[in-house]
Amino acid sequence: VAYEEESYKTELGFTVTGPKDNDVAYDERYEAERLLARVVGLDTSDPQGEDTPRRWIEAMRELTTPKQFTFTVFDAEVDEMVVERDIWFATLCKHHLLPFTGKCHVGYVPNGKIAGLSKIPRLVALVSASLNTQEELTVNIARALEQVLEPHGVAVVMEAQHMCMAIRGARATGVTTRTASMRGVFGDHQRTAKMEFLEAIRG
Ligand SMILES: [Zn+2]
Repeated sequence: VAYEEESYKTELGFTVTGPKDNDVAYDERYEAERLLARVVGLDTSDPQGEDTPRRWIEAMRELTTPKQFTFTVFDAEVDEMVVERDIWFATLCKHHLLPFTGKCHVGYVPNGKIAGLSKIPRLVALVSASLNTQEELTVNIARALEQVLEPHGVAVVMEAQHMCMAIRGARATGVTTRTASMRGVFGDHQRTAKMEFLEAIRG
C-alpha cells in the first residue's frame, strides 16, 4: 500500500502535493488495515480496498470532530416562541459506532436574545459530531442552547432511525425513536409552552 505518496489526485481530479494525509499516521493505517482485515475481511490488495483503512479513519474522525463556528446572538425585544423544525442530523451511536439519523426540532422562548437562524442547525451538527446516545444528545443540544441564549426555556425533540437496530440485531426497520428535553418554561409546570411547541412541530 502506497502510504507515503508525495502527490495524488483528489476525487475531483485535482492534483495535491504533499503528504497524502497529514492526520492519519502510518501506524494508524497499519492498525486499521489489520483490524478491518480481521473483522470485515477487507482485502487491501484489491484496488477498491487499498486505501480503505485511511478513508475509514478519516470518516470516523470527521464524524466525531465538531466543526467550530461562532454562534451569533442578537439582542432583541422578542418574547414569542421561536421554533425551527426538521433539522436533519446524523451521528454515531456510542454502542455500535453505527449511524443514527433523523430530525431535530428546536424551540425556545427568548429572554432578550435571539439566535442567528442558521446557527441552530450548526449547533445541532456540532453537538452531533461525537459518539452519542439519542437521549444524551437531546439533552446536550438543549443545554448548549441554554448556555448561548439564556432563554426563558428550550425544547428539543429528536426523531431518529438507528442503523444498529434497523439493519442488524432486532432488524427493527422503520422504527422511529423520539426523545425530548424540555427546560425552563417548557418544563412540567408550564404546560402551555410545551403544548404550543409540540403543536408547532407536528406533521
Ligand atoms: Zn447502537
